[in-house]
Amino acid sequence: MKHFALTTLSIILLTMSSSFTAAQDTDPQTHTCPDYASVYDAPAFEKPSKKSFRNFSSKMLSWFHQPYHMVHDEMIKEGTTATVVGKFDYGTVIHKDLEQEYVKAYIFGTNQTNWEYLGRFKTNSDGKIFVPVANKQEGDYTIKMAVEGDLSVATGYLTVMKPGRKAVLFDIDGTLTLNDFQAVGDYLGVETASTHAYATDTVWAYVNKGYQIVYITGRQYWMTKMTRNWFNSKGLFGWHLRTDSNAENPLQPQTQAYKRAYIEHLTNDLGLDIIRAYGNADTDVYAYGEAGLDKNETYIIGEHAGLEGTQAIDGDYSYHLTTVVADTPYAGCSW
Ligand SMILES: [Mg+2]
Repeated sequence: MKHFALTTLSIILLTMSSSFTAAQDTDPQTHTCPDYASVYDAPAFEKPSKKSFRNFSSKMLSWFHQPYHMVHDEMIKEGTTATVVGKFDYGTVIHKDLEQEYVKAYIFGTNQTNWEYLGRFKTNSDGKIFVPVANKQEGDYTIKMAVEGDLSVATGYLTVMKPGRKAVLFDIDGTLTLNDFQAVGDYLGVETASTHAYATDTVWAYVNKGYQIVYITGRQYWMTKMTRNWFNSKGLFGWHLRTDSNAENPLQPQTQAYKRAYIEHLTNDLGLDIIRAYGNADTDVYAYGEAGLDKNETYIIGEHAGLEGTQAIDGDYSYHLTTVVADTPYAGCSW
């Protein structure tokens, strides 16, 4: 099933690249479109050699529990250094941090021919490593982090951009998926969640027009692995994905503040031009509004559709896709 989705993806990619040459010829561009192809075509990743865990307790952890490691996706301005954070923990329920153990980090992306070794890092008492990545040109990159003791691997993405890059922002639950699991606490349904009709086509339409896709979700960081599996199963590129790294306490989520702050970071610090945003919750409406996104370009689906002067999506995405999305111009970048 997954293979089928990925094959479909590559066919669409091939179609994409040919259709973009025409737009490029008539309108010289200064910006580069997201480099989905270089990430998708990455050579096979060869794991490093396995070494013993430093602590016996870590070995026990890896024997008896599933890894839920994750890498926070990062977006930076060209010419700056990224700090890519990996978080390593085990256990569906316990999420016990992997402490004081070595992890090796690697990167592959735009204009690279092979995986580049970024170094060996020891996890701290929160199970985290902080990997600096410097001197990368505008483009997209995959980061792999491999735990030496059991060779479990986490994957994340780095986007290096120039100010002015155009983007479209999506919430996930209740916006792309039918249900807002946060409301019902259905964590187990995360990997198999159904989408609103034409939701994935809507995302793809923006990909094809050269827009950067940004997913911002109230899902906690430890749901990243499940979320990426979900993207794969739907044939979607799973980045740039931002989960709530601060949501240690799901009973008191600060979703609105976290979303507002992250959108402000993207627009104010990086100069990302978010031309449209999608959401479903009242917290989306307020977070997007407080971050300065245009209400005329804020589309809300579900019970809060149209709240506070936002634009309503009625039912599913079929009408919206064939009207608003179809009429949206290309992002004005070159491939
Ligand atoms: Mg939602």
